[in-house]
Amino acid sequence: MNFQYFARTATTATQGKLFETPHSAEQIRDTLLRTVSNEYMFNRYPDWPNLGHIAVDSRTTYGQLWDGVPPKANYMAILFEEYDGVGAQFVMDLISRNHILGARRALSNSPLVQMLNIRNFPTVALFRRDHQQALYMQRYNNQTVKDLDDTITSDMEQGGRRAPILTTTYAPTTTTTQTPLIDCHSYPERCRDMYYVSETDMLKAMRMALLDEVTRVPGSIRGDNFTNLHEFMTLLSNHFPVLSFQNDVRRMRAKRTTSVILRNSERARLVFTHMREFLEGRKSIGSVTADEYRRQFESVERVYASPFPVNSTWQHCKGSSPQYRGYTCGLWTTFHALTVHTYIDTIKDDFVNPMKPLSTIQGWVKSFFGCEHCRNHFMHMTTTLFPLNERRVRHPHDMMTYLWRAHNIVNNRLHGDTTEDPQFTKMQFPAPFLCPTCHSGGQFSRRQIRNFLLRYYGSIKPHNRLADQRLAF
Ligand SMILES: Cc1cc2nc3c(=O)[nH]c(=O)nc-3n(C[C@H](O)[C@H](O)[C@H](O)COP(=O)(O)OP(=O)(O)OC[C@H]3O[C@@H](n4cnc5c(N)ncnc54)[C@H](O)[C@@H]3O)c2cc1C
Repeated sequence: MNFQYFARTATTATQGKLFETPHSAEQIRDTLLRTVSNEYMFNRYPDWPNLGHIAVDSRTTYGQLWDGVPPKANYMAILFEEYDGVGAQFVMDLISRNHILGARRALSNSPLVQMLNIRNFPTVALFRRDHQQALYMQRYNNQTVKDLDDTITSDMEQGGRRAPILTTTYAPTTTTTQTPLIDCHSYPERCRDMYYVSETDMLKAMRMALLDEVTRVPGSIRGDNFTNLHEFMTLLSNHFPVLSFQNDVRRMRAKRTTSVILRNSERARLVFTHMREFLEGRKSIGSVTADEYRRQFESVERVYASPFPVNSTWQHCKGSSPQYRGYTCGLWTTFHALTVHTYIDTIKDDFVNPMKPLSTIQGWVKSFFGCEHCRNHFMHMTTTLFPLNERRVRHPHDMMTYLWRAHNIVNNRLHGDTTEDPQFTKMQFPAPFLCPTCHSGGQFSRRQIRNFLLRYYGSIKPHNRLADQRLAF
């Protein structure tokens, strides 16, 4: 008896690779593992588990070790092996747990081995996403998977307070990884995971918007620019999101929503409040010099323990190559989050002016957005093409949907442009993989869009300080 292996790309019966029957189940398994691993190494299918060995260099961050681990998985096990040994089997054995536990493999010459002080192989180390020290480290054996399950269960029961295994520090030296593009039509779930609102992105963008952009032109900030800056700072100090809602915001009244405090954003709000008061102190003269404003901002952010993560990498807004995305993605994200959180914060108020957050955002763009053609297009759109006025923005929820439509007009114009990231093409948002119910009969359903925006911008991934730290086990 023989068996035939059909690679993923095989389209005809003759493309199967014939194997002579090995003598035992173990041999069949090993042959298959070797063949599957070879196919992976050639093709790096993004929807297959990551069977490649981790590569590390002196700039590698803890967050990068998690490449290929699904964002929802809070734990990762790394198997260290001396040669191409049990690693592939280990990674595949853990696939069924990948909603909790991701698996990776590393070679014995990896700098991680010295950092973790590993002397015997194969060894498995377990990490939690918010913790750079191993929770478990043992020689690999047939109990390992059970041990991992037990360690994770007990760690979760203790609310993530399990004592780490002490390890040593060492500066690593070799090279890194390049993530392949994912086809969102074929792998909608992988793409859904790449779309989320990140606290890090918003904080990074706001510091650039309020500091670099506002002080780009030397001299004084006065007249409309002064008023627009004050209004924008007021909007941020009142409605910059400081809570992330884990469940549906619409159920808030039924008290079924749980929320998480965004610690950095709480401190950022104090900076915004302080800066608003600073600008109010200058209202009588109606101007402030760019230098004075900069000094004040820098000193206030120090007082509040620097809540803006300047050294962190972009998260959702990270481009597939460095020339894509980044700041403007962070800006859009914050603008949308501001409209959604203003809506949430004022849901019980009788008199809300839904135009206010939008005209405030428009004011900042007009006065300070450094991308000149973006600014001109945006002003043309919001005054002529799709004017921002009371007729369009009548109800409180219109503040969210006006900006949603405006952004889609921009997406449509830029679709196919050279600035388009091939991984994040400028589709009409949200694509069906993000919100299937938003699409009905080739059109967007307004009600579903509102609910989607509340869910998407209501639930914010907190800044994780640790992900950006260089490796130091
Ligand atoms: C006000 C403004 C005007 C701009 N004008 C221009 C211009 O004229 N020319 C130019 O080349 N670039 C312009 N840009 C930059 C451009 O829009 C993108 O920001 C940039 O190309 C990066 O795109 P991205 O793939 O990161 O997604 P972005 O378009 O930046 O979107 C960021 C994120 O917002 C979410 N999102 C996308 N669409 C919507 C929507 N409709 N509603 C709610 N959320 C959504 C998604 O999560 C997306 O990843 C402008 C940016 C801004 C902020």
